Amino acid sequence: MIQIFRPGSRPVTPGQPDYFTGQVKIERLHEAPPPARVRVLSVTFEPGARTAWHTHPLGQTLVVTEGVGRVQAWGGPVEEIRPGDVVWIPPGVKHWHGATPTERMTHLAIHEALDGKAVEWLEHVADEQYRNEP
Ligand code: MN
Repeated sequence: MIQIFRPGSRPVTPGQPDYFTGQVKIERLHEAPPPARVRVLSVTFEPGARTAWHTHPLGQTLVVTEGVGRVQAWGGPVEEIRPGDVVWIPPGVKHWHGATPTERMTHLAIHEALDGKAVEWLEHVADEQYRNEP
């Protein structure tokens, strides 16, 4: 049976300080029941906020819906991302994503869990790493 989840009906939680820097709001839009394993989140980062470095076992797609943000793979350049941009992060690639220092950013994050796990968290993004300009 088709299910419709109305706006505002899904759980919203703050980003845990172990895994995020700054103020982050996570809305869990959907976790498909097994055997499906896709998860869809809407994540809003206030200016200066970002994820810690992390990887996804099966990769991740980001779709920017509002604001201006940044994304970086380990060893790669900081890239600016804007509404309508679609970002593919391949499996196992160490990366972070978040707002710019001065503007908020919201993206959809779409990824699949492998053995129940969709992310492997690593160290925080240091201020000197975050301050690198795109
Ligand atoms: Mn990610």
